[in-house]
Amino acid sequence: MSMNQFALDKFKRRFDEIKKTLAVSFGTASADFQVSADDLADETDLCSSELASSMMMRLRNREALYVRKINEAIGRIQEGTFGECEECGDDIDLKRLEARPTTTLCISCKEDQERLEDVHIDGRKPKSLGNRLKLA
Ligand SMILES: [Zn+2]
Repeated sequence: MSMNQFALDKFKRRFDEIKKTLAVSFGTASADFQVSADDLADETDLCSSELASSMMMRLRNREALYVRKINEAIGRIQEGTFGECEECGDDIDLKRLEARPTTTLCISCKEDQERLEDVHIDGRKPKSLGNRLKLA
């Protein structure tokens, strides 16, 4: 574990900030939520109100999941395991952590995992949410 206390405090503050932002967006998500044509493509059999509520549900689920990931990351800071790869135990590259602070895998373990995952799942991410939650 090579990360110093200064860097840990910085991540901790950043997580607190993200949580504040998300708490606000929970209340305003319906107002600024945009559904793109791509996201609608395979859901044309739903009426628009059902579609809107299913998209909202998905968005809230993703935000809730993200908050959970942030809380887990804060827990790792407290335990002193933040920045360690949960797969191989190596230190995660600091640049990678800065780009994706909730990550629990080093780049090589992540690449291994992505090869195994169904890419289809990520491909369906709502665009507006993807931008807002790019740290997820
Ligand atoms: Zn690893």
